[in-house]
Amino acid sequence: MTFRAALLVGLTLLGPAALAQRTPQELAQALQQAARAGDAAAYRNLLAPSGTFTVEGANFAADLARRTPADVTYTFSELGQEGSRADVSLTLTWTRVPEGRGPSEGQASRVTLPVQLVRVGEVWRYAGEAFIPVKTETGSLLALRVPGLPERVSPLAPLLPRAAQEVKNVLGLPVPPDAVVKVYPDSPSLSASVYLSLPPVAGWNEPGEAIKLVMPGGTAAEVEGATLRVLTHEFTHLAVGLAAGPGRDKRIPWWLHEGLANFAARTFVTERGWQAWQSRVNGYARSGWVPLGELADFPNVPEARWDNAYRQGLGVVEYLAATRGKEGPWQLARAFAQTGESDAAARGAGFSSFAALETAARTWLAAR
Ligand SMILES: [Zn+2]
Repeated sequence: MTFRAALLVGLTLLGPAALAQRTPQELAQALQQAARAGDAAAYRNLLAPSGTFTVEGANFAADLARRTPADVTYTFSELGQEGSRADVSLTLTWTRVPEGRGPSEGQASRVTLPVQLVRVGEVWRYAGEAFIPVKTETGSLLALRVPGLPERVSPLAPLLPRAAQEVKNVLGLPVPPDAVVKVYPDSPSLSASVYLSLPPVAGWNEPGEAIKLVMPGGTAAEVEGATLRVLTHEFTHLAVGLAAGPGRDKRIPWWLHEGLANFAARTFVTERGWQAWQSRVNGYARSGWVPLGELADFPNVPEARWDNAYRQGLGVVEYLAATRGKEGPWQLARAFAQTGESDAAARGAGFSSFAALETAARTWLAAR
């Protein structure tokens, strides 16, 4: 074998991903190729090596394998390069197929995000969205770097400590002062930054990730109310996860996580909104109740049942608070974190079994 032939074999064995990041455009192609193939490992290899985005990027990659966006396109434009860093606009287009539907029912999606790239040695890597820090007394508030958004986000700064205090008041759990909150201009941008199969949401939090929220619209009072509601909800997820202890957050069922988060945000929900939530769960308790065991693991709960998880979760938390006192809801969550098993958790909260707890809560809600 000649040297040249040996070199070619060597290059072939390295595979396309290892070669395809010498320029930002090659990085875009490599990201697209890995995403279309649903290759989470290859995608992760294209990500910048440090920062909060490392966790977010890994979760984004895991979704590519779970629900592969076969037609996704990655396009970089408006490249501004300075040394080993570059700012670009990333336009993503893909067909989001709602869960359980066929490809013919897919929705054409398109999002443009300001993103950052870093060069590590000879190769470019993707470092996630670009933000502008907004001045705060506590925590970190970041606005996606799109025209006009930082100015709109600035008045939200004093709401961070208010929302954190509310979680402390209602559940007795501290929100860490260094929580990072990222604000997006709309829900498609937020969802696309989390993962491509996610339906539009108003807020997001996962262990180890920044909290994300969509900039609300409306009057100043409406913006304040909506922000406090979503922030308190997401701060609760963060506080509950940290109080559960390392690696134990996922032992707390998803419905309970959401129930606690909505319960904590009660003060910032309008009376009408709260009554609508209550009448929905009262209705589920009478007819259409989904067994809580089927609402425990977020990735395995069909989108059509998300409403059950949110409403039934809130209903059970309200039941616990009304019958066991202020400590009741967190007592159950803590028992789940400690035991990781539903019967043991229910016994830890003073019930004979999880079935007994679920029946008692459902009966209480059906009669409300
Ligand atoms: Zn939530």
